[in-house]
Amino acid sequence: MKAGILAIGTELLMGKTVNTNATYLSQELHKLGISVYYHYTVGDNPERIAKHFKQLMEMCDLVFTTGGLGPTLDDITKEIIADVLGLDMVLDPHSLERIKTRFKMFNREMPESNTRQAYFPEGAIILDNEQGTAPACIIEAKEYNTGILVMPGPPKELKHIFESHIAAYLKNKALNSMTSKYLSIYDLGESAVEDQLMDLIQGQSNPTLATYAGDGKVLLRITSSGLGDHSDKHAVERLCEQIKSRIGDYIVSENGEDLEVVVMNQLLARGIKIAFAESCTGGLLSYTFIRHPGASDVVATSLVTYSNLSKSTYLGVKTDTLTNYGAVSHQTCYEMVKGVAESSGAEIAISTTGIAGPGGGSSEKPVGLVYIGIYYNGEIMTVENKFTGDRESIQRRTVNKALKLAYD
Ligand code: ATP
Ligand code: MG
Repeated sequence: MKAGILAIGTELLMGKTVNTNATYLSQELHKLGISVYYHYTVGDNPERIAKHFKQLMEMCDLVFTTGGLGPTLDDITKEIIADVLGLDMVLDPHSLERIKTRFKMFNREMPESNTRQAYFPEGAIILDNEQGTAPACIIEAKEYNTGILVMPGPPKELKHIFESHIAAYLKNKALNSMTSKYLSIYDLGESAVEDQLMDLIQGQSNPTLATYAGDGKVLLRITSSGLGDHSDKHAVERLCEQIKSRIGDYIVSENGEDLEVVVMNQLLARGIKIAFAESCTGGLLSYTFIRHPGASDVVATSLVTYSNLSKSTYLGVKTDTLTNYGAVSHQTCYEMVKGVAESSGAEIAISTTGIAGPGGGSSEKPVGLVYIGIYYNGEIMTVENKFTGDRESIQRRTVNKALKLAYD
């Protein structure tokens, strides 16, 4: 299933409003196994809306429009769709009643212009909007073999319509015969994943394999789909086993979970706590845990010790160590993790110290040099890493690598 999203509204082109609807829809459609091929944005201009709508109709199985369902003159989405498809606009009395009721609820007189919101291209499936006046609709354009899903612009209303109507519609449309499995892969770059699985990625049409990468983490989706037919769960499992036999060491979850969630569950199951002493990651590592509810059951202490003074004061890193080896060194990293483990009493602790850049690097200690320390049951290990990328990317890679070390 190929989908296209047409976001309509001049405010989007003027940079006044961020097109969050396209992001939201893409994420939701992805979960349903529908591939979004195009994001189009047009202003409230009839010719350009019609032109881009037609293009998407020719290229996609599903076209999602957002915006332009309001009562004002620049809200013309439904009229244009009707025009392109050669359909009449017809009044839906049920929608008109609902709009009137909504105005009554707020003790207001319904302006005549709102009547327009109750007109739809003939044959449309009308979807009630509990969050606003503009009902949404679905039009099945037979000659294009395309489903058109027409949704309001306000993100809250869009989300409501999607969750309460559209998702179910899409699932019923033969999309229910889709099986997906998500493998979370850490500490193996996207190109390394592709190298290892090249023949499987290229040779597969059903199930398909797709990768999504981000700073030390790769999500691999295995999807089997069969339109009308049943998708093949066994084929997904077989392919999954094949992948595990090649890169199993790097797979931390078969449900697409983030590694911190996996680690948190491990800690919970064992009833032990974790502590952090962070320098170059500035709290990102502990936030990765603490952003999840239930973190209080597993996180003991988190210290951000950015300066040398704070490393000495709060973690007991020796001044000699800092002078002789520098803050970015195995030795400092070791004393950091030892310090936080001792003061927190946690069974496991992690420290980070490195040069995230862009400045501060030297030939001896380049940008991207990061030490990660792991304390576990009295034993300490420090690992030297050389990450690439900008500051944020180096920080995220550090976090992902630290999680992987803690997981192992
Ligand atoms: P309304 O009845 O409010 O006019 P509508 O369906 O016509 O509803 P629009 O007029 O296009 O929708 O947009 C209404 C609101 O939603 C505006 O505040 C607009 O900035 C916001 N909005 C529209 N499209 C998007 C989008 N793609 N992403 C995020 N916000 C959007
Ligand atoms: Mg509007």
